[in-house]
Amino acid sequence: MSLSRNPAPEKCAKCGACTTVCPVYQVTGKESHTARGRLHLFTLLENNASRAYADILSQCLLCGACSDACPRGIDIPAKIRNARHDLPDLAGPLHFKKLLTKKALSSPNLLEGLGTLHKNLLAKLPKESGLRKVLPFHGISEKEENHNFPSLHESEALPDAQLSYFAGCMASYLVPEIQSATLQLAERATGSPPAIPADQSCCGLASYSSGDLKEARKLAQRNITAFADSALPILTSCASCYSHLSNYPELFADDPDWSDAATQFASRLYEFSSFFLDNLEELPFAENQATADIFYHDPCHLRFSQKKTITPPRSLIKAATGHSPLELPHGPQCCGNGGLFSLAHGDLSRQILQPLIHEISELSACQVVTTCSGCLLQLMKGKKSGSMQTKVRHLSILLNDLLK
Ligand code: SF4
Ligand code: SF4
Repeated sequence: MSLSRNPAPEKCAKCGACTTVCPVYQVTGKESHTARGRLHLFTLLENNASRAYADILSQCLLCGACSDACPRGIDIPAKIRNARHDLPDLAGPLHFKKLLTKKALSSPNLLEGLGTLHKNLLAKLPKESGLRKVLPFHGISEKEENHNFPSLHESEALPDAQLSYFAGCMASYLVPEIQSATLQLAERATGSPPAIPADQSCCGLASYSSGDLKEARKLAQRNITAFADSALPILTSCASCYSHLSNYPELFADDPDWSDAATQFASRLYEFSSFFLDNLEELPFAENQATADIFYHDPCHLRFSQKKTITPPRSLIKAATGHSPLELPHGPQCCGNGGLFSLAHGDLSRQILQPLIHEISELSACQVVTTCSGCLLQLMKGKKSGSMQTKVRHLSILLNDLLK
């Protein structure tokens, strides 16, 4: 079983449109980091891969900006994922990402343990400790003492539910306030608590991105099965999860045993802001002057995905606060997270993040909101670096605070 293989470099017109939008190229200036350069390398090195080649492959955020700009419509992220899949045993960052993916993200217990470990560790650290600056998850949980949210492992199907909820790793284990706020909003919007299938797992995006298709399919099968008990719409609060869950049909395109189920599953998905925008009449938001200057960060997984979602979050924020969100002078920018890219290439990731943090600081926003778990972590890291004072939150928490 395989996804579409073999890059088609002959299709590249070498026009350079992809170079103007690639966040990695903008930092490194290396031709090998452009989509054009990577496609060219495929022709030269596909059968003679070195560690340097694997590094170049791993130094891509899979953001999709290049494909969006490409006049030939080449799906560069798909070609890079496939090439990563063909290099399973090389050491280096790619190998690290595969290992991390396998050991942590597919093991809810371990992930839960990591979240607890962070909280316990943070509780003991003095506020001024320098160690807090290097703990990437510090500060993302606003009410750590107040976790009255249903646990995924204890939840049961609810007979009156109008909606089911895919939580994702971040809302399940690291920032439970996202889960709590989303469930409260969803209950107000639909009139009953959403069902939370207990056997759901990581969406599998990290495995997919690192080229581990076997693991990505295993996690996808688990989720498809977990949600098969009903035909309810599936809401997820994470933009990256939503994007990858929408990809399940592609993941099983040549597997007759799973193809229909994957298509069915994907057809039930609802993106966070689109769902609440469609159900606005049930959500009595109280306008609040303190929410006049909100900056919304666009996750690449919504900006460049097939189902581009750029307007709904802005319309939702305007409807909830009475004000359009602030915009950057040159339009939305990538934050440099790229899933596990930020762990494998920390320096590069920070260099992409810094200009964004600078521009947000110049806006004097009162809050920064987004709906992507990875972006949220990255923006929190940017805030920790010192130049931005603004509170960073998931959009669900802002909206839930505004509910009358
Ligand atoms: S935009 Fe597309 S066609 Fe143009 S150089 Fe980049 S990959 Fe090639
Ligand atoms: S997916 Fe993003 S980071 Fe990767 S080559 Fe394209 S624009 Fe650059």
